[in-house]
Amino acid sequence: MKKLNERLSDVALRAVNHWGEKAQEDVAVGELAELIDVLMKRRRGQVGVEAVIDEIADAKFVIEQLSKIYGVDRVNQRLDYKIDRTSRIIDGEL
Ligand SMILES: [Mg+2]
Repeated sequence: MKKLNERLSDVALRAVNHWGEKAQEDVAVGELAELIDVLMKRRRGQVGVEAVIDEIADAKFVIEQLSKIYGVDRVNQRLDYKIDRTSRIIDGEL
């Protein structure tokens, strides 16, 4: 069986190709809103940890699809920059 990240990448691309960029962008908006909603509910003690984990998984899946739509290499390039910047802030270099 393929590793999780490889399956995530493969099926994310298949989902975009199968349902289309517009539809999957709409799905992403919905799922990311669900993550925000569950985090606010968690803050108020209205949901358990499992509900948050479920929405994090949904969010990761749609973020991967958005990356396929807008360009994995370009997203990773910005991610690399942001990771490095955050690391340097933590280390007191910025
Ligand atoms: Mg969801």
